[in-house]
This record gives sequence, C-alpha cells and structure tokens, in this order.
Amino acid sequence: MQDTKLFETILGLQAPWHIARVELKTDEKRVDLWLEHEPSRWPCPDCDTELPGFDHAEERAWRHLDTCQFQTHVHAAIPRVQCSTHGVKQVRVPWAEPRSRFTLLMERLVIDLILQCSTVKGACAIVGLSWDEAWGIMQRAVARGQARKEARPIAYLGVDEKAFRKGHRYHTVVCDLERSTVEFVAEERKTESLAGYYRQLTDVQQAAVQVVAMDMWEPYIGATHAGLPNGGEKIVFDRFHIMRDMTKAVDTVRKQEHREFLGAGGSPLTGTKYVWLFSDENRPEYHAKTFATLQALNLKVGRAWAIKEALRTLWTYRQLAAVKRFFTRWYGWAVRSRLEPVKRVAATLKRHLDGVLRFVKHPITNGIAEGLNSKIMSIKRKAGGFRNPSNFTTAIYFHCGGLDLYPR
Ligand SMILES: [Zn+2]
Repeated sequence: MQDTKLFETILGLQAPWHIARVELKTDEKRVDLWLEHEPSRWPCPDCDTELPGFDHAEERAWRHLDTCQFQTHVHAAIPRVQCSTHGVKQVRVPWAEPRSRFTLLMERLVIDLILQCSTVKGACAIVGLSWDEAWGIMQRAVARGQARKEARPIAYLGVDEKAFRKGHRYHTVVCDLERSTVEFVAEERKTESLAGYYRQLTDVQQAAVQVVAMDMWEPYIGATHAGLPNGGEKIVFDRFHIMRDMTKAVDTVRKQEHREFLGAGGSPLTGTKYVWLFSDENRPEYHAKTFATLQALNLKVGRAWAIKEALRTLWTYRQLAAVKRFFTRWYGWAVRSRLEPVKRVAATLKRHLDGVLRFVKHPITNGIAEGLNSKIMSIKRKAGGFRNPSNFTTAIYFHCGGLDLYPR
C-alpha cells in the first residue's frame, strides 16, 4: 500500500479529496500531509446549491491525531464557490469544522481528554497543545452544544451562587434538579442575574417550572416573583441552603467565642473549626474525643451546634400542621439562645416561612444540588483559579452543562 493510501484510510478521506503528498520528518517526529481534490462541483455552505469551483483560499493547516506518536498536520487550500445569493464562500471540508485549526477527530480527542482530566492543563500535556489552543476547543465545544440545545421544559430548578475566587464576586448557577445539569450561569448574583435566565425561557418553559429551590437571597426571590407566572408560590428555600446558613452561624459563634477566650488568656477552641461542622452520625472518629470534651464545657458554640442539629428534624415532617408546630418550638429556642448569629438565621427563616415549609408540598432531594456543587468546586480547585470570570463560566458549561460538545 502506498503511504498516501494508508493516510487516506486513516483520515477517512473520500473523493474528490485525496492525499497528494506526504512528508515525513523523522528527527522532528512529524508528518505533514497535503490534500488535493479532483475537479468537482461544491455545495454553497449557506444554501447547498451545487456550484463549480471559483478559486481557492490560501493553503492552511490543521492539527490531526498523532500517527504512531508523530505529530500529524494536514494541509490544503480550500476551494471557494461564487453563489449568486451568498457571494464568494469557502466550501465545507469533511475533516474539519469551519474556522477550526484542528481536524474533527483531533477536536473530539481533546474534548474527551479535558472531560477526563477535568483540567485543560492535563489535556495539553498529553497531546502537546498550548493552553490557548485547548481552551479554544473547549469554548467552541460549549458554543456548539448551546446552539444545539433544545428548549425543553424543566420542572425543578435549583439556583445557587458560587464564588469565582475566594473573596471575589459570585456567579449565579441555575440547574435542572432532575437531570443534574447546569442550565445557566451569570457572572453576578443580582436580580438581573436570575431574571436574565427566566427571560430567555419560552412561555411554555416558564409555565412548566414547578419549583425553584434557592437561598433566602432577596435578589433571587424578587427575580422569581417577577419572572415566572405565580413565581412566589414556586420558591422553596431548601434544606441544603438553610443548613449551610446555620452551619455558617455556628462557625461565627465559634470565632467570636474563641476571640473572647483568647482575650482572657487561652482558648479551648483553638483548632476546632472542623469539629463543629459535622453531625453526630458523620463525625469522624478522630474528632469524637475533642467534641465530647468541648460539649462538657457548656460553650456557646456547643449550644449553637445543638440548635443547628435540631433544625434538621424539620425536613422529616410530612404534615404542614406538624411541621409548623415544630418550627414554632425550634424558633422559640433559637431566639432565646442569646446567640446573635443563630437569632439572625432564625429571624430570616421566620420571615420566609412559607417558602421554607413549601417542601411539604414539593419534596426535593438535595443530593443533586450538592453533587453539582461539589463538581463545580472540584473544577475550580483543579484549575487552580481561572484567569477571568468568563473562563469559569465556560468550564461550568463544559463539565456540567449536559451539552452535546462534539463536532460532527
Ligand atoms: Zn448560497
């Protein structure tokens, strides 16, 4: 078999295209292939009208999959046609998408590698691409996936905010709680961040939303009231966000108490931050002794922790009357605790009680929201920080968007 035939088979080339020349540079571990075509008619890329070749664009190159560890580059001059409607246009070629510098197979491989490595850097190291080249493939993949995406109805939405960088601004992330996909990302957490998502839904999609699970965050509440039919009745302040607020309150109590102790000479709370983050049933064994010792001291943080733990019972009720009775008792305990951070969360819960108790009507599992949350956090961690907020957005869509990313 001639070497041109071998490469035509590898590339899956068909008439009128063929390989005219192969150049092998053994010392550089590189193969260059030049593609040419027989005289042919070509469809206009915009209207598919068959036209004769008009001229050729300048020769360009595409990076292809390595051949036996030789970097492989494909070269060709793309024919142009002159369409009476669309003017002079480059025709489509079977090995690459318009404007890409990579063959279809190469793009597919890079997409798979980034998905597997979770980082662009990892993929770059394997195939020998620059960060910008791999990032370009990723952006094109997301754009392609979004263009193909259909406007399907989503019944259960979750809205969350994610810090782009520690101490930096937040992203708003809207997810589909049944399919476990990120549907929308905005680079703020304002009313407009969520309103922008609702606005681009069709009327049918807006009406299909039954639940929006979210934090007790006024801008999101406002956006949902205004952006969905009967929006106010669809809001559920879910357990994931409420317990996160309570855990933060416990941590604030710990910090304050720790400072008071330090002012008086020494603190039993030094190095105990993580001890207070666990519930009884999932506290690691190595924290057990410290926790028992601390609880015996009757500390403020111990009380805060107990109030937080008690609140978890709320989501075990199935009857509205029973859950209301429970909340009234819990609320009384929390507001008499003389622990300001705890009282603040309790007051917020009471102010938003309808939305808190709506879980009885719309039980939603928090597993998906938590799973997506940790996936996004791990993307961020592995990337070691993104250069800018929109790169973070692209990475979230790429890894969590459930998009059809591949060229075809
Ligand atoms: Zn045309």
